[in-house]
Amino acid sequence: MRERGYRLCDQCGAVENPAVARFRLCGGCMTTQYCSQDCQKAHWASHKVICQHTVAQQQPSSYSSHSSQYANDDYEETVKALRKYTSTHTALLGWAGFQALRLKKVPANIRHSVLVINLTRSSSSQYHHSTSRHNSSRTHENNKDKKFAFHSTQILPLASYLTDPLILADIARRSQRSRASGGVGCLIVVLRVVPYGADINALNNGGEINQVVPVEVDRVEGIQWAERADWESVLREALESGREFRV
Ligand SMILES: [Zn+2]
Ligand SMILES: [Zn+2]
Repeated sequence: MRERGYRLCDQCGAVENPAVARFRLCGGCMTTQYCSQDCQKAHWASHKVICQHTVAQQQPSSYSSHSSQYANDDYEETVKALRKYTSTHTALLGWAGFQALRLKKVPANIRHSVLVINLTRSSSSQYHHSTSRHNSSRTHENNKDKKFAFHSTQILPLASYLTDPLILADIARRSQRSRASGGVGCLIVVLRVVPYGADINALNNGGEINQVVPVEVDRVEGIQWAERADWESVLREALESGREFRV
């Protein structure tokens, strides 16, 4: 499984093999992952600080300038839904980042660019109420996890996008670990929830709800993914279909 973007247990370094068993994500930050409950427990002492920092960053109080856009309940619900969405689509996001930054041709891009995927809140929740009675439960099932709709993607300079020292230190740790095993480093994909009608280029970094997704990438020669110029439409379709992504 190491030919693809892969996930390592943050405690013991075991490589995830999704065909056998999925790793468990830290329920706090939804960023670190573990092969077992034992590894998760063992890692907590060293993980606690970055974990609590990540969670605290997502609290409404640190986004007071944006509180007008979201009622607090709505904000917290969106943050939770975004974490779930991120964990559902981890494999797809890694693949999209790999394609967007053209890591097969230019591995050095991993060090100075991030893929930002802009999402809007899906309007499916309003849709439920207007659905006719006999098919409403079915529609509800299908739309239950479709909280977000794809909006656009951007490739932005890493240095301008990520400035939080604790998060940068965590990324540096992942990059080092990847390179120590011959990998390319740590790819950064960011999922960002933008308000309807916002001018994407005028958004203020970090002011929106976002989720940073680090993906450690193995040596490029070993990666079987072909370059795909149409990665953005593949990404959009996969996100919109809600099906599990397989390459
Ligand atoms: Zn482990
Ligand atoms: Zn955590």
